[in-house]
Amino acid sequence: MPSKPPRHAVIVGAGIAGLATAIRLKTKGYAVEVFESAHQPGGKMGIMEMNGFRFDTGPSLFTLPKLVDEVIADAGLIPGNYLKYTKHPTACRYFWEDGTRLFAEGTPNEFAKKASEVLGDAPENIQKYFVEAGKMYDLTKGVFLQRSLHRWQTYFTRVVWRAIPKLPTLGLFSTLHERNAKRFSGSPKLIQLFDRFATYNGSSPYLTPGIMQMICHLEHNIGTYYPEGGMHSIARALHRAGEDLGVKYHFGLPVKTIAVKNGCASGVVVGEKFHAADVVVSNVDVRSTYKHLLPQLKMPKNVQRQKPSSSAIIFYWGIRGQFSELDLHNIFFTENYEAEFTSIFTVKDLYEDPTVYLNITSKLSPQDAPNGCENWFVMVNAPADEGQDWETLVALTRKRVLEKLGRMLGKDISAMITVEDVLTPPKIERQTASQGGALYGSSSNERMAAFLRHANFSRKIPGLFFCGGSVHPGGGIPLCLLSAKITSELISI
Ligand SMILES: Cc1cc2nc3c(=O)[nH]c(=O)nc-3n(C[C@H](O)[C@H](O)[C@H](O)COP(=O)(O)OP(=O)(O)OC[C@H]3O[C@@H](n4cnc5c(N)ncnc54)[C@H](O)[C@@H]3O)c2cc1C
Repeated sequence: MPSKPPRHAVIVGAGIAGLATAIRLKTKGYAVEVFESAHQPGGKMGIMEMNGFRFDTGPSLFTLPKLVDEVIADAGLIPGNYLKYTKHPTACRYFWEDGTRLFAEGTPNEFAKKASEVLGDAPENIQKYFVEAGKMYDLTKGVFLQRSLHRWQTYFTRVVWRAIPKLPTLGLFSTLHERNAKRFSGSPKLIQLFDRFATYNGSSPYLTPGIMQMICHLEHNIGTYYPEGGMHSIARALHRAGEDLGVKYHFGLPVKTIAVKNGCASGVVVGEKFHAADVVVSNVDVRSTYKHLLPQLKMPKNVQRQKPSSSAIIFYWGIRGQFSELDLHNIFFTENYEAEFTSIFTVKDLYEDPTVYLNITSKLSPQDAPNGCENWFVMVNAPADEGQDWETLVALTRKRVLEKLGRMLGKDISAMITVEDVLTPPKIERQTASQGGALYGSSSNERMAAFLRHANFSRKIPGLFFCGGSVHPGGGIPLCLLSAKITSELISI
């Protein structure tokens, strides 16, 4: 008897979640095609080269690399043949305007000891904070991160029943800042350091719930990693693994619409051509998916209601010169964190004294910059685009950042810039269709944000699914990889 032809899945977008979903569906036995409007895989995880300098244009912090390995290993391939990475001993170097610097290496206990020496407060307090963060993560990952929150079956699992009674103790009823301020009352700088973890999902520590304490577990207890060849190699690795498995990729081909026939997803229209499919997965920002690819459907109310995460202005500077006090990840703090977040999320403007994040991959990959030079990725958090005057804001921010780094590093940075480019919220939206240029989909500034995020499937259109940073469980590389897993588990063969 002739065997049945495989069911056909089309994935719209080759962001990190689209790439992982393609592999997972192919592993399940689907024939998989990916349509991507850009000419390369990765979406926000892009790459750029200028006059001998290489830059990762998007994400720079790599945590939970085992989730990438898992996608490849679950497909029966050897992860190390696709991606190599090393653990980085220092999570981040911290700089304050009064000259305080925290360079702490090693285990959580070593970090606690050093941070306590430099910033005050008892090391046991910091250690306890890390232990608590680990417990929060272990308890909640099975509820919030690894399952669909939108299927009743989820609520009938043992892991969820065990976790639910403990949820009220996990900081859902205080903000991250309130929680940190209570814990580290002896050290405003420690409060600021741990408040910063709210930015890892594009939120404000003064609004996001205390449960976000668990984010620091990834960086401090598990560790930060660096992929050989830079962050874009993660996307390349997944793309190559997909190719080896037989996934078909079409780059430079934007999907015009998702087709719906008899109430079910039936394929996609690319140019003038219809491509039939049994299953369509959109890896495109969920708002853009409804607005542009499904104009006949009304955007669900919870999607309309959700506030975007923060965006950013990023300067890519080729620097003639080297700085021994800088590492892979560096933070130069503002003197008024609360005013900065009010500016971003309430005033929707850039703050006059912004916190500056500086990433330098040439510290670990010297080939990323010419001899004697460094490739600086300089990022300032910004509101999502609502039509602000970005040309003026970029000029103003550039001046403020140069003054701040010049002051804190004691060098005229502007004289050292040999090449430069800049990424703005509107440009992020143009390049990736992320609404307002949000880095992480929607913000987690509301207590119930996890439940408001769009499901990984459509309730109205059978056969239509969603993955990526704008849907459950949220933005950032680890969560995008988990969304790919949840989505492909929802798709039956
Ligand atoms: C500057 C910056 C810094 C960041 N820093 C970090 C970090 O340090 N660590 C971290 O974990 N995360 C970070 N993030 C967030 C992280 O990059 C994202 O959460 C993640 O990459 C999003 O992946 P995704 O799968 O949702 O798809 P996206 O990357 O959003 O990709 C969507 C893809 O869909 C394509 N597309 C859109 N419309 C169409 C269409 N009509 N047809 C076909 N294709 C289409 C786009 O071209 C794009 O390739 C950062 C993001 C940015 C921008």
